[in-house]
Amino acid sequence: MRTKGPWHSISNGGDGRIIGPEGQFVADTIPRDSADPPSNPGEQAFNARLIAEAGTVAHDTGLAPRQLADQRAELLAMLKDVEWTQCIGEDSIRCPSCGLTKEEDHHPECSLRAAILRAESR
Ligand SMILES: [Zn+2]
Repeated sequence: MRTKGPWHSISNGGDGRIIGPEGQFVADTIPRDSADPPSNPGEQAFNARLIAEAGTVAHDTGLAPRQLADQRAELLAMLKDVEWTQCIGEDSIRCPSCGLTKEEDHHPECSLRAAILRAESR
């Protein structure tokens, strides 16, 4: 079981400690008993923020980051499957969101196309 979110990262000399909503300890990016100082404090702080964000999103959604990535890929594939649809009784293939034909391409403010572009961006 994971600690309830949201998680926050705190930087103490670049070591990147992660705490829960009531300030309780969640994790460290460097073990406390490590004799080696952080090799890159900025990177450690960034990693701590990323870990805290992953934990918070897992708490908010009930899904692990890998599950969200898999679900995102599945939803993107489904959006692309329905992006251009031939309606019954019509010869043309249209976007079900903006209604324009494939030859016309999407309306500049088409929400389906915007969702596909956001899901494909990195
Ligand atoms: Zn469209």
